[in-house]
Amino acid sequence: MAKNWNKRTKLVHHGVRRSQYGEVSEAIFLTQGFVYDSAEAAEARFIEAGEDEFIYARYGNPTVRMFEDRIAALEGCEDAFATASGMAAVNAALMALLKAGDHVVSSRALFGSCLYILEEVLTRFGVEVTFVDGTDLDQWKTAIKPDTKVVFLESISNPTLEIIDLKAVCDLAHAVGAKVVVDNAFATPIYSYAMTCGADLVVYSTTKHVDGQGRCLGGVVLGTQELIRKSIEPYLKHTGGAMSPFNAWVMLKSLETMDLRVRAQTATAQRLAEALDGHPKLVRVAFPHLPGHPQYRLAKELMEEGGTVLAIDLKGGKAAAFKLLNALEIFIISNNFADAKSIVTHPATTTHQRLPDDRKDALGITPGLIRVSCGLEHADDLISDMMQALDQA
Ligand SMILES: *Cc1c(COP(=O)(O)O)cnc(C)c1O
Repeated sequence: MAKNWNKRTKLVHHGVRRSQYGEVSEAIFLTQGFVYDSAEAAEARFIEAGEDEFIYARYGNPTVRMFEDRIAALEGCEDAFATASGMAAVNAALMALLKAGDHVVSSRALFGSCLYILEEVLTRFGVEVTFVDGTDLDQWKTAIKPDTKVVFLESISNPTLEIIDLKAVCDLAHAVGAKVVVDNAFATPIYSYAMTCGADLVVYSTTKHVDGQGRCLGGVVLGTQELIRKSIEPYLKHTGGAMSPFNAWVMLKSLETMDLRVRAQTATAQRLAEALDGHPKLVRVAFPHLPGHPQYRLAKELMEEGGTVLAIDLKGGKAAAFKLLNALEIFIISNNFADAKSIVTHPATTTHQRLPDDRKDALGITPGLIRVSCGLEHADDLISDMMQALDQA
């Protein structure tokens, strides 16, 4: 278990496993397999592997384990299993907990690939899925039934940044014995409140704030030792969603700077949101810590800061949105977020293009909506870039 250090200290030191060479920077164990001293030692390890004993990189690897230990300490969890991508983590969390005939309740505002797993994959295997408006507690109350096994949600929705009353939803789920799986990408591991609200499993795409520099895909499932070792590990080690040792090393080193990066990006996002709020060319600015946000009080209660992403809706619809995107000089047009480089995305024509218009409307994905991810550039430069582009839109 983690020492009683502050987060930033844990992010630099927790989980280090030094080799016999005493290296300062964590080593990359770029190896698939491990050698046994004897036939008896191999047999013993297959019966039960000790803390520093590994069998095969699909099951675990010293560099991957360092990353898992460190991020588990940050989240305040007993254990973690790292995966090849955020989607491998979401898939494992759901598949490991469910079987045919089970019932799932999920919020409807989901990342496209999460929606695919719930809507297309799970239903093919006889799992019933009910979707609700995650911000409406009455819909959760009606949908969660005595046979509900899993509740799934994104704590902060993409791209409109709606907040779910996580504690209330966890209480409803636990009252019927259901497990709560939280995709926590937008909340960030720095400001996460999922475990304290009662989540059973927390999932991250570490492609986002953990890497934070646009290099590697990765994911992680976090929870109790019991859930991770008895449910998640068996599923993942046999189905092949493991994180590569190289990617684990990149993520491990990224954790050292994550607190500094995320706090700087968050401060910039807050400033940009305030600067844009009330701009005559905008219908609205969505940012959890702006007083105009529909769940401002809940956001202030749950979230230490407002996060690194905001969304703006242009009065001139798609034409104005495209003009703005094309006029920006620092922000790059891409579909990711939480990068050191600030990124703008037009969800209606890219990440959410596949959704029919009525579902886009229900999720607030209007033709004028742009998602803005704040990077590590100077806030003054980002604000003036956005203002000059708005003048042209
Ligand atoms: C990016 C993202 C994922 C998927 O992560 P990958 O690492 O791209 O597989 C899942 N959920 C949310 C909320 C995301 O933002």
